[in-house]
Amino acid sequence: MAPTPSPPFSAPVPALRDRPAAAASHPPTGILGVAVLGSTGSIGRSTLEVIATSGGRFRPHLLAAHTSVGPLLDQARLHRPAWIVVTDAAAAATIGADALPAGTRLAVGPEALDDLVGAPEVDRVVSAIVGAAGLRSTLAALDAGKTVALANKETLVMAGALVMRLAAARGAVLLPVDSEHSAIHQALRTGTADEVVRVILTASGGPFRTRSRESLAGVTPEEALCHPTWSMGPKITIDSATMMNKALELIEARWLFDLPPEKLAVVVHPQSVVHSMVEFVDGSVIAQLSPPDMKLPIQYALSHPHRLDGPARRLDFLAGLRLDFEPPDPVRFPSLRLGHEAAARGGTAGAVLNAANEEAVGAFLAGKMRFTGIADACSRVLDGHAYQADPSLDDIRRLDAWARQEVVKWVSA
Ligand code: NAD
Ligand code: MG
Repeated sequence: MAPTPSPPFSAPVPALRDRPAAAASHPPTGILGVAVLGSTGSIGRSTLEVIATSGGRFRPHLLAAHTSVGPLLDQARLHRPAWIVVTDAAAAATIGADALPAGTRLAVGPEALDDLVGAPEVDRVVSAIVGAAGLRSTLAALDAGKTVALANKETLVMAGALVMRLAAARGAVLLPVDSEHSAIHQALRTGTADEVVRVILTASGGPFRTRSRESLAGVTPEEALCHPTWSMGPKITIDSATMMNKALELIEARWLFDLPPEKLAVVVHPQSVVHSMVEFVDGSVIAQLSPPDMKLPIQYALSHPHRLDGPARRLDFLAGLRLDFEPPDPVRFPSLRLGHEAAARGGTAGAVLNAANEEAVGAFLAGKMRFTGIADACSRVLDGHAYQADPSLDDIRRLDAWARQEVVKWVSA
């Protein structure tokens, strides 16, 4: 059975003319309680900066991390959340009885996190755990009907149809944190679904944009971890270098905005100032521009439908701003083809591609796989998997485990 289509642009992007004037102009009121899942990571830390500079508009209710207990406790002392959650039990066991600040309680394990994201004090959940591990708490938040600021793109890559159906059934809202999807979300507000001709995701091209195909095989983890425009966690930095990040983002956009895959395109834009664009039937292209700084899309997802002053850097048009665009090279960056393919196939393709990629990135970082082996491994696993058009969550988890094993076998062969 084919997945039930979600309504056009399931994320709340009503055409401007359909929105009450008051919604756009009135300042937001009330304090919003925020749960930050993955608070010690790159997105998590930027989220806390947005919260800390919001003049009390946002209050951190819950901070969660996996093993980084020291940084999490530092954050707790500074931000005084009601809860911290450590999902790794062994790491949690190292926390001494007197380590928590007054007013902060500790919960342990992923089950505790599932429960706590649904608390009435939580108005917005920032889903910023890295990789497939972020799926379960995002599902828990949506199941509780929460508004989720989604950084964890893997959630939609793995289980897009299921996730969007759950959100619709529970009246939950997904707002993008990924800068491209935040830009698309903003651009879509200027038109209606049937007026959209193309959605163009921009890509920085990563550190190897101009490298020869031959030289890519010898790339080291240190080289691949040096991104030219963005400062991010290690997994997404490697994904940017292979351009698998853009592949995952094509799949993310397909589900988040209910877009036909053939309307999705990628263009390389090395400055990372135009974050993405939407082309409408009349030929108008609406783009969103800002310096590469994740604090802006994070804040947009926290404050939507309002806009607030905030800590994100500003563009200076008089300081020699250049905007270049070039086509992506599918030969040097074969991951892109896999993204288009998985977006078009839907079903289990995204989950398998994501799992194979996570395992392959881990192998590359551990010095067990060549840089160019990442896309090769993903392609083989995607081609060889037992495709299902409308998988259950169990099917997705089973295939996720299978795909990882296939990569492990390939690495050790
Ligand atoms: P990161 O590696 O810097 O941080 C990851 C966080 O997840 C940490 O807090 C860590 O404790 C937590 N975590 C790791 N494994 C976990 C597990 N098994 N269970 C629970 N928590 C776990 O990652 P990041 O760069 O902040 O990226 C987070 C997510 O945001 C990713 O899905 C990434 O694709 C997405 N994203 C990041 C950026 C960026 O600029 N960093 C931009 C767009 C999207
Ligand atoms: Mg992005």
